[in-house]
Amino acid sequence: MARIVMKFGGTSVADLDRIHNVARHVKREVDAGHQVAVVVSAMAGKTNELVGWVQNMPKVTGANSPFYDAREYDAIVASGEQVTSGLLAIALQSLGVNARSWQGWQIPIKTDSAHGAARIEDIDGTELIRRMEEESQVAVVAGFQGIGPDNRIATLGRGGSDTSAVAIAAGIKADRCDIYTDVDGVYTTDPRVEPKARRLKKIAFEEMLEMASLGAKVLQVRSVELAMVHKVRTFVRSSFDDPDAPGMGDLMNPPGTLICDEDEIVEQEVVTGIAYAKDEAQISLRRVADRPGVSAAIFGPLAENHINVDMIVQNISEDGSRTDITFTVPSGDLDKAMAVLGKQKDAIGYDVIQSERGLVKVSVIGIGMRSHAGVAASAFQALAGKGINIKAITTSEIKISVLIDEAYAELAVRTLHSCYGLDKS
Ligand code: ADP
Ligand code: ASP
Ligand code: MG
Repeated sequence: MARIVMKFGGTSVADLDRIHNVARHVKREVDAGHQVAVVVSAMAGKTNELVGWVQNMPKVTGANSPFYDAREYDAIVASGEQVTSGLLAIALQSLGVNARSWQGWQIPIKTDSAHGAARIEDIDGTELIRRMEEESQVAVVAGFQGIGPDNRIATLGRGGSDTSAVAIAAGIKADRCDIYTDVDGVYTTDPRVEPKARRLKKIAFEEMLEMASLGAKVLQVRSVELAMVHKVRTFVRSSFDDPDAPGMGDLMNPPGTLICDEDEIVEQEVVTGIAYAKDEAQISLRRVADRPGVSAAIFGPLAENHINVDMIVQNISEDGSRTDITFTVPSGDLDKAMAVLGKQKDAIGYDVIQSERGLVKVSVIGIGMRSHAGVAASAFQALAGKGINIKAITTSEIKISVLIDEAYAELAVRTLHSCYGLDKS
């Protein structure tokens, strides 16, 4: 007997037929004698629809956002998961499985106060475990949500059901966390962009962390962090596989990709994958006073407003008094960032502020880069060969990122994918 958390994403619960299919996956594990907790997303497209409704409401100065009250955003967008948790509980009951739905606040899953991008702080798994052990009951938990210190629903940021699942797995000491989605594992790059992408049998936590933070939305970044810290054995696998096909119930090695410690990977490639993040925007502050504290004056207020700043380029000032600072933010945050920086104009002391949307960040990721030179040079050469202009570059020990025009996104991904031989097994 094992304790397993099974998470099903939006496409896996997109309609009633698929919800019944999900119920069959759950029943397979229950019939094998395992204790199961399920985490569900909203039906595909539902969260986008709810977010769209909020964005189309009249803009007001809310409690902690210049555009709308983030507490009400959470009350609205968390509703999608409430529906699927109830529907799946009913589907399971119809198959004779004892199941009960749970909202985040009922467990409770306690979060911090960052509405819209909250972090889980604590999960009380006592009642879930009691019901698993004493009543063989399956908990069907609404993903993406918890309850904040203000006693109100808080959501975990887009893709947050992955994090709900791993956090619950850690909270109830599960033996495994299976993230069921619409692909059968983690690939060398997004298989929708490069059909030649290959499925990885295993990927190291650090690499998955980079892939996720650099745009591979197959897992939310925070879920990978939690899996790494709490050593949750996490698999990415497909909900579209036949629930009763041979091997589907394999306890140690189910089909899919295992996210694991790097020591568990015997043959480590130099480059493991290519990720891309669309909808990047660039902000340039021209003729900024070059003095100690200026970066804090720019990036402090952006951080306070929960705007994630990414690539930062600062020119050397010609005369020692004025410089240009350019950085990227997600396109969705551009208006908010421009408003925040507009208010800080005098405190920062810049001449002109400029912005550009429609950029994409393409990244090459691999632990092997630590010990191999020339990986960056090959990327630059390959992109130049296709006439793709690079606007900014950042690197770390295990990744290289370049900022380019969005029109070249797919071409750049495919070029880099083949440049490192990732399409050949
Ligand atoms: P879910 O709704 O199940 O949470 P997501 O749409 O959030 O699913 O994530 C799955 C998608 O992630 C896939 O359909 C795929 O297009 C995309 N993706 C991006 N990069 C990768 C990758 N390296 N490997 C697998 N899938 C990827
Ligand atoms: N439904 C939420 C979203 O679309 C959470 C998730 O699916 O993980 O972002
Ligand atoms: Mg997702």
